[in-house]
Amino acid sequence: MLASVNKDFVGVWWIVARWIVSALLILGGLFLVYLVLFDQGASLQALTEGTAVQPSYLHELFHDSRHLAGVACH
Ligand SMILES: [Zn+2]
Repeated sequence: MLASVNKDFVGVWWIVARWIVSALLILGGLFLVYLVLFDQGASLQALTEGTAVQPSYLHELFHDSRHLAGVACH
């Protein structure tokens, strides 16, 4: 009896964990699409402050990715 309850509990949490991981992957993908198509790296500039990475490099990387994706730009 206890083993069955424990097995059901683990099964439910496994299902919930898979939904959470799926939701995080989808949100991460949407955030990446936002970064490439709309933000062009501006949100990540705060992460590179004080490092050797120039903010303009991030902007160019995301800007070029935007062109690679075929999004109308300039
Ligand atoms: Zn462009």
